[in-house]
Amino acid sequence: MREPFVMAQDRPFLHLQDWEHRFPGLVAGFTIRTGGVSEQPYESFNMGLHVGDDPAHVVVNRRMLAQHLQFPFEAWTCADQVHGNRVCQVTAGGAGRESLGDVIAATDGLFTEKEGILLASFYADCVPLFFLDPASGAIGLAHAGWKGTVARIAEEMVKALEQQSKAKREQLLAAIGPSIGGCCYEVDERIMEQVQTSARDWEQCVAPSGNGRYMLDLRKLNTLILLEAGISPDHIESTDWCTSCRTDLFFSHRKEAGAAGTTGRMASFIGWKTRKGASSSS
Ligand SMILES: [Zn+2]
Repeated sequence: MREPFVMAQDRPFLHLQDWEHRFPGLVAGFTIRTGGVSEQPYESFNMGLHVGDDPAHVVVNRRMLAQHLQFPFEAWTCADQVHGNRVCQVTAGGAGRESLGDVIAATDGLFTEKEGILLASFYADCVPLFFLDPASGAIGLAHAGWKGTVARIAEEMVKALEQQSKAKREQLLAAIGPSIGGCCYEVDERIMEQVQTSARDWEQCVAPSGNGRYMLDLRKLNTLILLEAGISPDHIESTDWCTSCRTDLFFSHRKEAGAAGTTGRMASFIGWKTRKGASSSS
């Protein structure tokens, strides 16, 4: 399958290219680690306010991204991510853009039907899930590390879009973004016990690496959960970008935790600048 996340020319992010082509007025993508103002160990395009970086630098970086996207910074909306499976509908933009004081509390999934809201969430290895319902225009982002994945946040998002935005599961689109791959993500028995109850075909996502440890493909596991939740296989796109293999492009919590244990965060983002003309293009 063709790589869905394509590097933007001379700009510090990857586009979710097919969606942006199919739906004029939509922006969707994932930032890279270079092109910003943060200093070591957050060098340089750190999007996370919660990792100890100078907040002023993070806000400059976020404003730069908004400017690149030609999206007003006031539209930027994010939540305090807690590795849970709670999903929350956003009806007004602006939460959490300049400080942690006004973030949406304890939420790993955000969705909205409204234009003029830029949803963002933050990553250094965890899996970003993108959602779009072509009929209602509802868009969503979910943050799925191993805890959120086994808590089936992917399915929680599908349920929320169905119940609150009247989306039909079989029409929903989903995309799985840059994150740590099965090539690099080694886990122990404790995590494996939970993986085994998270999806029917979980064995497809796991390879023993010896000494009671396993290589876990979280992207594949999320794909299985999306399929179980009723998403059509041809509506799921998944990346090949591994954040741990490519620390030239991405922050990696696993890869960089050895040194100081701190690193920056990339942002996944999705928003409608305008929905004019959006429904005619599917
Ligand atoms: Zn890798």
